[in-house]
Amino acid sequence: MPQHTNWQSLKIFTTRNEVQHYLNEQKKAGRTIGFVATMGALHQGHISLIHEASKLTDCVVCSIFVNPTQFNDPADLEKYPRPIDADINLLKQTSCEVLFNPGVKEIYPEPEDWHIDLGSIENILEGKFRPGHYQGVTQVVNKLFNIIKPDLAFFGQKDFQQCMIISKMTALLKTPLQIYVNPIIRDEDGLALSSRNVHLSLEERKHATILSKTLFYISKNFDIKKLESLKHEAIDKINQEAMVELDYFEILNSNTLEPISDLENDPLIALVAAKVGKTRLIDNIILR
Ligand code: AMP
Repeated sequence: MPQHTNWQSLKIFTTRNEVQHYLNEQKKAGRTIGFVATMGALHQGHISLIHEASKLTDCVVCSIFVNPTQFNDPADLEKYPRPIDADINLLKQTSCEVLFNPGVKEIYPEPEDWHIDLGSIENILEGKFRPGHYQGVTQVVNKLFNIIKPDLAFFGQKDFQQCMIISKMTALLKTPLQIYVNPIIRDEDGLALSSRNVHLSLEERKHATILSKTLFYISKNFDIKKLESLKHEAIDKINQEAMVELDYFEILNSNTLEPISDLENDPLIALVAAKVGKTRLIDNIILR
């Protein structure tokens, strides 16, 4: 059984030395470490990862760090929400024991080169629309893994391609930890929770639900013989929605994110990305 301390005792660290000192003590006491990496503006999607982490590990660490190297659009980085007081209050109501909330200088004391060969998965879907994004993501997640040294790390299926890329990175670098992928948490209207949803106007929010509605429609009417026509129907539905500009809608092999090669047996996922007004949203659903 995981050994948790009282929820009121959230420890907040901003330097790697402090957090490492605390976690080393916990490890010496035989406690396992679960890690949830976030960029803050916490919502129930993040909290679901913390709950899962606390079921499986003794000491849950959440990081909040808006990583500049994964933003290819400076305006997106600038306007990324940073409600740190609300985040701390929310974390205090969970079983999270440690918040690691470093500044940029703590993570990047000096400019550094980073490149990891992720193969073709880096340049499709999100990688195609956000060049360099996954180099930045792997750079910061690898740094955080090296600081926290968790036994288990928890990520959301919402960022499906990111989960695959982080798994690939840990395999390449032989990082000794296990990765857990948790289901997507949605609002009542189906919209996948995202820190970026705060940027949506009421009107935009209504139109944004076309993404999850279309994914649910595809899942409900899934028929492998009609895959191409279903995909076109999905694209038409999204294109017809006001205020929504589609980046991609794809149905791919969920093990590889490559095109389907075996219609009968490949595991399948539908993935979508679109701008709603100025806010870019992503979503997906496992079909088979
Ligand atoms: P972010 O703060 O957006 O970088 O997300 C931090 C972690 O929370 C990532 O592993 C995300 O995949 C996960 N996450 C974000 N939104 C959701 C959601 N709606 N449901 C489940 N997990 C999520």
